[in-house]
Amino acid sequence: MENEAALFKEKLEKEISARIKAEKQIEKLKNELGKALNQKNTIIKNEPDVIFSISGKGEIITPSPPQKNKLSGHLINGEKPTIHSVFREKNASLFDNAFKKCLKKETCQFSFNQRKNGKTNYYESRLVKTGPNEVLAIVRDITPLKNSGKQLKKALKKAEEISRSKSEFLANVSHEIRTPLNAILGFSQWLFENSDQKQHREYLSTILESARNLLTLLNDLLDLSKIEAGKMEMDIHPMNYQEVINDIKLVFQEKVENKELSFNIITDASVPDNFFMDEIRFYQIIFNLVSNAVKFTKSGHIQISAHTKKSAKQNKVNLIISIEDTGIGISEKQQKNIFETFTRQDSHQNREHEGTGLGLAIVNGLLKKLNGTISLESKPEKGSMFTVTFFDVKTAPADNPRVAPPKEGTVMQLEPCKIMIVDDISYNKLVLKQIISSEQVSYIEESDGTSALAKLKTDKPDIIFMDIRMPGISGYDAAEAIKQDKDLKHIPLIAFTASTLKDHSKQIHSLFDGYLQKPVFKKDVDIILKKHLKFSYVDKKTEAG
Ligand code: ADP
Repeated sequence: MENEAALFKEKLEKEISARIKAEKQIEKLKNELGKALNQKNTIIKNEPDVIFSISGKGEIITPSPPQKNKLSGHLINGEKPTIHSVFREKNASLFDNAFKKCLKKETCQFSFNQRKNGKTNYYESRLVKTGPNEVLAIVRDITPLKNSGKQLKKALKKAEEISRSKSEFLANVSHEIRTPLNAILGFSQWLFENSDQKQHREYLSTILESARNLLTLLNDLLDLSKIEAGKMEMDIHPMNYQEVINDIKLVFQEKVENKELSFNIITDASVPDNFFMDEIRFYQIIFNLVSNAVKFTKSGHIQISAHTKKSAKQNKVNLIISIEDTGIGISEKQQKNIFETFTRQDSHQNREHEGTGLGLAIVNGLLKKLNGTISLESKPEKGSMFTVTFFDVKTAPADNPRVAPPKEGTVMQLEPCKIMIVDDISYNKLVLKQIISSEQVSYIEESDGTSALAKLKTDKPDIIFMDIRMPGISGYDAAEAIKQDKDLKHIPLIAFTASTLKDHSKQIHSLFDGYLQKPVFKKDVDIILKKHLKFSYVDKKTEAG
């Protein structure tokens, strides 16, 4: 018996110690679990997002401790909060729909907004399926993000407005400067051509040179502002490569001869005669590069070479044109930012040359618009080579070539004709008449659209030059009336304007047959006259004008 009792006691003691051990183990586990729960709660409490589970009945199963005041101050309060007791009806149904979607697709995402303290707050909600009929919702307050987006949009709008008014201001100023420049250039040119006194001719040539420089600067500033505002539109038409290059050569002929430089043009047979291009902008790019080459070269040569490479596209080529000089060259340091605005070489030599540092930035901007690139190789004191590549240039058939250039010693003579000039500024009319300078021509001069339209009832000219900005009926309105009149619409109508706004030129294209910008140059006037009026080439001496 004693033995049995001793055995029982021993067994009991073992069981008790095992139980005590197990209880200690449980206590330890409880502690660890408590810690883990605390940690989880701390994480959830400090988490910027609101996290909660939603049951199939729409009940919100709150984490512990509950996250108060995160959504509109009343999310997750009350005994058993539900989606419908916490959110407004509209948002609650968004949650209901998302819940259903999430059970099918495992995850779902949507955004909503809710008023809080009189302000609208924006939220983004992500749902993840956590059980057969339960999802976990993570709701993030994205109000600050939304607000900064709104502020950015506002700032962008303001910046766009400023840029627009800057462009308009520049266009207006340019109009105001161009008008007097038209008179300065027109009359100086006429006096220069008709003066016999050497000294007068020298002074006049300086006036002409200065006025032309002013005009170039004005054009550069306008172009740059258009490029920067993203408003530079390209006007692509068939263009004859050789004619453009020859025109450029002609412009620099005198300077090149004075400096005793040789000017070579090398054109590979693969270069198409005609291709689709914005001729004015193409001219401007090559002109700028050649102008720099001439400006920065004292001796040696200037060379324009062109060749093509195969394009991946049918009927298209990559056109590569290099402008090479043996001038002062460009240091490696300056080469790095040479295509940025206002960069000029800071060397003693460069100070001798005039310029604003806008040319290459404009060239670069134009090339981007024309699917082109530019690169530079240069060694100081040896020379520079700028290479422009126009990608995927479409070749054009050789139709409608410009009127053949005159033979040496001949000049253009118009057949007898009548020209109407409509402009409110009288010296603009006078300048144009002096540029046309032909005794074969009789003129009808009017100062506004109304009087021009009245005159056209009885008198029909062979061509009309029409100013755009005039008091009363504008040039556009007058042009519209002319083009709607069956007796007048065939008369070539040329816009004659100092304005440079692009939206104007769109209207000009649709209403007018040509465009002559003030200040006007003889070369441009002649192109228009040759295109629209009858003429012949006569010997300089027998000229009747
Ligand atoms: P600008 O000629 O009006 O100064 P550009 O933008 O055309 O402005 O040229 C910027 C600068 O790049 C020039 O001032 C000159 O220092 C340098 N540069 C451009 N082309 C040449 C060249 N062919 N040879 C030497 N330097 C050049």
